This record gives sequence, C-alpha cells and structure tokens, in this order.
Amino acid sequence: MRVLMVASELFPLVKTGGLADVVGALPRALSRRGHDVRVLVPGYRGVLEAAESPGPPVSLGDPLGVGPTEIIPAKLPGSDTRVYVLRCPSLYDRQGGPYVDPNGHDWGDNHLRFALLARAATIIAVAGAPLGWAPQVVHAHDWQAGLLPAYLQLWGRTRPATVMTVHNLHFAGRFHPALTSAVGLPQSLFSVNGAELYGVMSYLKAGLYFADRITTVSPTYAGEIQTDAHGEGLQGLLSARAPHLHGIINGIDDEVWNPATDPALPAPYDANQIAGKAQAKRELQEKLGMRVDPSIPMFGLVSRLTGQKGIDLVLGNLPLVIDSGAQLVVLGSGAAAYELALSEARRHHPQQIGFYRGYHEPLSHKVMAGSDFVLVPSRFEPCGLTQMYAQRYGSLPIVRHTGGLADTVTDSWAVPSVGTGFSFVDPTNWALGNAMWRGLQTYGTPRYDELQQRAMHRDFGWGPSAKRYEQVYVDALVGPVHLV
Ligand code: ADP
Repeated sequence: MRVLMVASELFPLVKTGGLADVVGALPRALSRRGHDVRVLVPGYRGVLEAAESPGPPVSLGDPLGVGPTEIIPAKLPGSDTRVYVLRCPSLYDRQGGPYVDPNGHDWGDNHLRFALLARAATIIAVAGAPLGWAPQVVHAHDWQAGLLPAYLQLWGRTRPATVMTVHNLHFAGRFHPALTSAVGLPQSLFSVNGAELYGVMSYLKAGLYFADRITTVSPTYAGEIQTDAHGEGLQGLLSARAPHLHGIINGIDDEVWNPATDPALPAPYDANQIAGKAQAKRELQEKLGMRVDPSIPMFGLVSRLTGQKGIDLVLGNLPLVIDSGAQLVVLGSGAAAYELALSEARRHHPQQIGFYRGYHEPLSHKVMAGSDFVLVPSRFEPCGLTQMYAQRYGSLPIVRHTGGLADTVTDSWAVPSVGTGFSFVDPTNWALGNAMWRGLQTYGTPRYDELQQRAMHRDFGWGPSAKRYEQVYVDALVGPVHLV
C-alpha cells in the first residue's frame, strides 16, 4: 500500500512530544510489512537544515496565497523513510517552535501554517500526482493535519482513503470562524456537520467528521474520549463514529530506545548485564550536582510540565521524597509555576532534587536509565511513552490508571504475577504518594529485581500495532464511508 502520513512533528527532525516519536517510527514498522510510507512535514528552519539527501524541489504554486510553496523530497536521518519537506519560507522559515514563537506565544498565523500542510497533502494526493507518486491512503495526525480529510472530501472526485489519528484530543486547533475562507474552505463547512465546535472552527473536528476512519493511541483512551469526562465536547461525534474508531496502542522505537546500544548512556546494559544501569545513575547524580550514591532510590520524570501531566501531584509529594531519603530528577519545561516550584525545591535540597529546565533528548535517555522509578501521574494520557521507555530501561513505572498508562502498566501489588509497576486511580497527592511508597518498599529487595526483569523482557515494539494500522487502512480503502 502507498501511504502518505501528514504531521507537524517527525523525530528526529522536529519533536515536542510523543507525536514525533510515533510518526518517526510507524512508517518504518509499516515498511517492514511491505508498504511504501512517506511523510509530509512542514519545512521549519531546523527541518530544512537536518533533512538528508534533499532532492530537487517540486513546485506546488501558491495554494493559499501565502507565497511560493514547494516540496523537497528528502530522507529521514538514520532511516530509509522518505520525507516530503513542505517549503514555504513566509510561513515556516523563522526562529521558534513549531507552534509557538520564541516568547512562547502561539504563532498568529497557525491557521495558515497548518492549513497549508493539509492543502499541500491534498495536492500531492489528487492533483495529477506532481511528485510522480500518489498515495492510496492519507493518514492525518492530530489537529495540525485535521483539514486534510475535509479538503479531500470537498475535492469530490476520486480520492485516497483518509485516516485521522488523535494523539491528544485536548488540542483541537481552534480558530475564529471568520478564518474559514482564508484557508480556502466554504463558509458552509462552518457547521455542526463540519468544522464547527461550540462556536469556533476546529481543525480536529473537521478531521474527525470527514475522515473515513479514526484511530487514537490506546484502547482505553478510545473509550474515554466517548465520555463527557474526557470527550472535550467531541464525545457525541466520537460515539456516533464508534464503529469507525479504533484504539491502537503506540509502540516504541526499540532501536532508538535500547539500553544495549544507546549512545547517550555511559555504559551499555541489558536485562542480563544490568551493571551499566548503576553507571547511568552515577552520571546523572554527578551531572545534576546531587549526592552520588548508587544505593539511593531515584524517581525520574521526563515530561511537559502542564496540568495534564499531574506535576502538582509530584510537587505535593516532595516531602515524601525528602523524608524518605530518596532522590527526584525532573527534566521538562512548561508552566512557570511548576518550573519555579521545582527550581526552589532544587535550591533547598540540592542533594536530593535535580531539575533540568528545558528540552534535552540525550538527558531524557539518561533519566530513563539512571532512575529506579519513572513517574507518570497524568490526569489523562492518550498513550504515554515514557512508561514504556522506563520498562525497557529497567526502571519501574509509577502511573495513574488512565488512558494508555492503564493499557501498558499493570500494578504489581494488584496482580503480583504479571505486574511491572505501580498504579493509582485518584488524582490526589495521597494516591500518588501511596504508589511511590509501595515502590520504595520493594527497592533493594529481590522483588524489585523480579519486577525489573519482567519489565525489561516486555515487548513494546511496533510490530502488532503496525499490523492493526494496516487493517485500518485496508478497511478504509474497501469500506463504505459513513458521515454522521
Ligand atoms: P506528550 O506527547 O503528551 O508530551 P508522551 O509521553 O506521549 O507525552 O511523549 C513525550 C515524549 O517527549 C517522550 O519521548 C519524552 O521522552 C519526550 N520529552 C518530554 N519532555 C522532554 C524533555 N524536556 N526533554 C526531552 N524529551 C522530552
């Protein structure tokens, strides 16, 4: 099958979260199953600099009246995946992040930046195949690609099948209704049977409404988003589309996340030769200026620092960390209040609290390896990746029982024979503290080693999930399209 993935992030070219990891790894897993999968990604400055073997540009004209637009065929570094870089200097060639300017504010023209992404995909897919390659399936990821199923539906002629994946329903791509025409859509699309979501235009809603098939990144989250509690106002649409909604758990890239070959670690290790893990802890303690002692239990956290991620619950348990003599290492950035609280905690307890504010890929690997426990206390979590990285790196996950966390971590007290971590249900300080305390009880005992071995032997590879995506593609190609 020929599949075009369309996404705003793609590891290792551009990453702010799990979306990039998925779009980086899934094409490779599908290509191992014999499919020809290519990825269209915006040509942000960093992407243009890092893409490998760029070929001659192919002009797409000026589809949205924002300036000349072209596709640069290239390759993903370190892989055979073919990438189409969407070059439009007026929208993408600037200093800053994919979604925000250097001051952390949303780009004022995000509606154009991501409409162009979907529009370019439409041109590639239908308009005489300007690249000499036309997909049978287009796979749109998150709101940034949400207009793609809508553009293709409006195209009205033969078109590829469309699949829309929700990585996080909370981000709906909301814009003022007056912008509908600016992105080349008829005003009629701004309706409940289209892109309208409680009075604003939502790119995600458009995608969910028009896509032939919808997927999200775990079975539990697929159920949760049909409820009032987690549906973000889209639960009605998602329930109506339930026959075409599939929860497929993310895999992890087990080449990038492999402690036996990880270049970010001071020494390789695996389940049989675990000694290198202690070296990773030592290096982490040294680098962050903490007490260097391999026998101290260490909690790690690598995350965006937002309310979703339950950072307040971690802050509420700083006394537990301090009083128990444990250590906590946090890598992340986000809400100023959390950053400040963590900086203060570090200032007061430098031997026990380590905090690196910012985004640091190699350090994220070191935290997974150096910690004994990895915290993921999210209020909601579509899939979550760090709890899987943790298990592969022999660190026991401590997670809230929600979304993909519920699908990938079994509590070792509740189900002693298969558990590999600790989970809790209520989003309270006490409940997280209880799970951390239970973790500490096992530390340094044969039970910890048993859980660690079991965690490291789990297979979180992409194989089974790639097969399920393949089934969804086939289904979208042959099955009827039901618009609600
Ligand atoms: P989300 O996509 O909601 O942010 P996920 O758990 O699905 O959460 O994915 C987060 C990804 O981003 C993981 O690969 C994690 O290691 C990485 N990550 C998060 N924060 C940082 C950071 N500060 N530095 C490096 N990597 C980070």
